[in-house]
Amino acid sequence: GAHREMFDFRAEVSQVLDLVIRSLYSNKEIFLRELISNASDAAEKLRFEALTDDGLFEQDPQLRIRVTVDRDAGTLTVSDNGIGMSRQEVIDLIGSIASSGTRRFLEQLSGDQAKDSQLIGQFGVGFYSAFVVADRVTILSRRAGLTAEHGVRWESDGRGQYSIETLAKPGRGTDVILHIKDDEKDFLDTWRLRSIIGKFSDHIALPIEMVKEQHGDEEAKAEAAEEWEQVNRGTALWMRSKSEITEQEYGEFYKHVSHDFEDPLAWVHNRVEGTNEYTTLLFVPSRAPWDLWDRDQKHGVKLYVRRVFVMDEADKLLPHYLRFIKGVVDSDDLPLNVSRELLQHNRKIDTIRQANTKRVLGLLETLAKDEPEKYATFWAEFGKVLKEGPAEDYGNRERIAGLLRFSTTHGEGSAQIASLDDYIGRMKDGQDKIYYITADTPAAARHSPHLEVFRKKGVEVLLLSDRVDEWLVSHLSDYKGKHLQSVSKGKLDLGPLEDQEEQKQTEQAAAEHGKLLERLKTQLGERVEDVRASTRLVDSPACLVVGEYDMSANLARVLKGMGQ
Ligand code: ADP
Ligand code: MG
Repeated sequence: GAHREMFDFRAEVSQVLDLVIRSLYSNKEIFLRELISNASDAAEKLRFEALTDDGLFEQDPQLRIRVTVDRDAGTLTVSDNGIGMSRQEVIDLIGSIASSGTRRFLEQLSGDQAKDSQLIGQFGVGFYSAFVVADRVTILSRRAGLTAEHGVRWESDGRGQYSIETLAKPGRGTDVILHIKDDEKDFLDTWRLRSIIGKFSDHIALPIEMVKEQHGDEEAKAEAAEEWEQVNRGTALWMRSKSEITEQEYGEFYKHVSHDFEDPLAWVHNRVEGTNEYTTLLFVPSRAPWDLWDRDQKHGVKLYVRRVFVMDEADKLLPHYLRFIKGVVDSDDLPLNVSRELLQHNRKIDTIRQANTKRVLGLLETLAKDEPEKYATFWAEFGKVLKEGPAEDYGNRERIAGLLRFSTTHGEGSAQIASLDDYIGRMKDGQDKIYYITADTPAAARHSPHLEVFRKKGVEVLLLSDRVDEWLVSHLSDYKGKHLQSVSKGKLDLGPLEDQEEQKQTEQAAAEHGKLLERLKTQLGERVEDVRASTRLVDSPACLVVGEYDMSANLARVLKGMGQ
């Protein structure tokens, strides 16, 4: 007989489950969106694997999702004939919430329900939203390609334990059966379900089917064969024309592709005709994912070929500094069996990547110009990533630089709000350079003695203290013909800002204190290259500078910290 095994959830799972249930409480219906989204992903995975092994379709090539209700049993079932899961996959994927992320997820919780519920999606806990309306969930699944007796049954009440047993499952794919809570019986109402599907899942490209409502008396109903009807539109959203797609639809589609629970900040949707035909729909999220700095983060831009999903995380479709963008690219011209290797050296892909880059930069420029508040949100979340741009993408260096925002001596506090154009607009008569200082912290930058002379002359200085800033300025030597100059490097050359009087003073001081300078130099010996008199200080007696072409003191510190 079937051998039933009990397992404990990993320690954190129960905690996460509790949280999911609490924070989705006011928005219960999205459990259906999450289950349908998973079913759709499973179908896409099957279609993709079947490209190289069409035996996986078995006798059942029509991919679809079915939503059924059994009022007597009190259950709601979401079924798919997608890729399915093996026993081990069920344990790995369902039994342990996004393993690596769970602890970090719990650390980020604020206790504020609205905020916490937005975090949930980022940690891949969509499936667990089923427990918001169900007091027991059963999964029946069979991996495509395995024989019928390799089916698996998983069941849990979401309170610490789950059971697994092996059973025969003739049809491949997954049924998720929700035993609906007594006080949530509304979710057994098929009209309610249809309306929820219409609201959240209409964009799913696969047919979502429900049993056709039968009229007539009970007996006639019982006799009539079940007839299925499609309840969603069932076309790829990105193929529809922009003017017909509502903001809400874009939002729901975004949540599906990105696995985010929050609305996107902005998007750009284009169709390109000609010799290389393709459609792109790219989104800027409202919030940085917790794994933004992980090398192997998931869910970037998905690649489709003629509506067939072929690849997740297709990192060749955008440069690395735009890795926060989510969405789809659907090509009409690439071969269906396109591999990662092929993507590396494909002219069509290169063209798409360049066009995508320009579209995203254009979208950000528009956002900065027309919706500065949204742009400020974007900058707070993704600014540090965008700062990698000038180093990575020489060709678009100037456009990226135009999108950067800095904290400067013009304002107070550490908010990064000034653009380089703002800075240029405030330049003094005769000023020909953009001055900046780099330091470990915003406070260290703002209080550096190097700034004294600039303050005296009313010349603005960019205050750079993000880790990536050294990298940025070493690849961004000028903007709109103005050189970016460190205030702590080399001889202070204020150019036309320096008056003759000051130059004379410097020379005089050097002559007057020649002996002192000589002595300091001998005392400090190898440790310094030179000791100079300077007018760059107002209140401080001395400061350290590095040579124009040397590594800055801050970069030296950063590298030392990294053990270099
Ligand atoms: P996410 O979809 O963000 O990965 P979920 O909690 O929704 O997170 O799902 C967890 C994982 O469980 C999925 O990544 C997938 O591997 C697996 N899974 C869930 N539902 C299905 C399904 N219907 N068919 C196959 N695999 C599924
Ligand atoms: Mg999911």
